[in-house]
Formats: sequence, C-alpha cells, structure tokens
Amino acid sequence: MSAPRPKIVKHESASDEVAYWICPPRSNYRHATMQRPGALIHGSSFEALCGETVKAPWPTPNDRQPQSKLVTDRCDGCSEAVKERGARSRTWDF
Ligand SMILES: [Zn+2]
Repeated sequence: MSAPRPKIVKHESASDEVAYWICPPRSNYRHATMQRPGALIHGSSFEALCGETVKAPWPTPNDRQPQSKLVTDRCDGCSEAVKERGARSRTWDF
C-alpha cells in the first residue's frame, strides 16, 4: 500500500523573506532590514524595520574581524517587525 504523496507545504512561514541583522557603526545593538546587504550603500543611511534611520557600515578589511561580530543585542522594534513578517533572521557583518 502506498501512501499518497504529501503535498509540499512550507511550514516555516508564508514567505521566504530574510531579515538581515546589521550593526550600524559604533552601535551596540543590531537593527534588521529586508534589503539585501549587497544592495546597501556603505556609509549611507537606510531605514531599519523599526523605522529608525541607521547607517550601513563600511566593509572590514579582509585581514580583520568585523567589530560588529561581537554585537549580539537586537533592537526591540526590529525584533517585533521580523516576527510579524515571519521572516527568517540572518546576522550580517560587513
Ligand atoms: Zn531597529
């Protein structure tokens, strides 16, 4: 007896959206954005999910570890927004 083939259902969320958690320069916590990090212009401002305007960091030279790597705290407003969207979270360092 063969079971009917299960339909492919996405359980995680309705969307495949990814929220990127970015640490603005000199900040001690991260904000989230739905923009791909590659689309952000280094040093320019963008609007985080919480509505705050934050700066996109400059890339770290290859031989150095990004300072933002040590930052694990997340903005409350952005956390809420990411949860509401059902987006997956990805930490991103430049
Ligand atoms: Zn935020």
